Amino acid sequence: MSSLSGKTALVTGGSRGMGAAIALRLAEEGADVAITYVHSEDAARRIVAKIESMGRRGIALKADAAHAGDAAGAVDRAADDLGGLDILVNNAGIGVLGPVGDLTLADIDRVLAVNVRGVFLASQTAAGLLRDGGRIITIGSCMAQRVPGPGGTLYATSKAALIGLNKALARELGGRGITANLVQPGPIDTDMNPADGPFADGQSAMTALGRFGSADEVASLVGYLAGADAAYVTGTELSVDGGHAA
Ligand code: NDP
Repeated sequence: MSSLSGKTALVTGGSRGMGAAIALRLAEEGADVAITYVHSEDAARRIVAKIESMGRRGIALKADAAHAGDAAGAVDRAADDLGGLDILVNNAGIGVLGPVGDLTLADIDRVLAVNVRGVFLASQTAAGLLRDGGRIITIGSCMAQRVPGPGGTLYATSKAALIGLNKALARELGGRGITANLVQPGPIDTDMNPADGPFADGQSAMTALGRFGSADEVASLVGYLAGADAAYVTGTELSVDGGHAA
């Protein structure tokens, strides 16, 4: 039997990048999986088709994490459609980089709405819905630990906020056997941060391994955290960053 057989999961931002790889990994391990997306409906449908080709249930929900109602509502809808919820993966996130003086109020509000408020609201809703022994796994960033150069004030602020939220969730939900963990990726080859992008060489050089990671390498860690083997791992920050923070 697969390790997540009989479990249900929601992965926010599961149409592309790390979220897509995580959704597929959880389905491979046996879970039924809902994903959210904002723009990429076709890509989301392709991920759902792949999940279904593994014999699992797959659901695509259009839900913009920047909107409070969507962020919380996606968790409710996933639990309704899948018949309960065991695993929430807070993956959806955006990056706005630039000199601190150039960032607009709209930039600040949008990044904090998606990367912090949306994660908070989804986690808050999940806290009331998750079955005992559930999982909240949040994708932060290595930039909450070490900012490798200028331009990262807003993004690093948003991802650092998740450290406090994660620890507090672990304390609040531990009595029900629910774990909360924060995964902090280093540079990962996705649309957000392509390994052949203009700043890629510098990012590779910041890692001990001298390269970008893949979305699958992040999904492996999330798959572990979602499974029974990680039942005693909670309230922690786990890096999958090629040694970026070393
Ligand atoms: P991508 O930009 O490649 O993919 C983002 C995914 O999130 C897409 O599925 C997108 O949906 C979805 N999404 C974007 N905005 C929203 C929103 N407002 N509401 C719901 N879904 C949304 O990103 P990555 O895969 O690279 O990043 C995933 C996470 O990892 C993010 O939290 C990011 O901050 C973090 N991260 C990324 C790193 C990297 O180097 N790539 C490094 C460290 C952390 P749609 O397709 O509809 O647009």
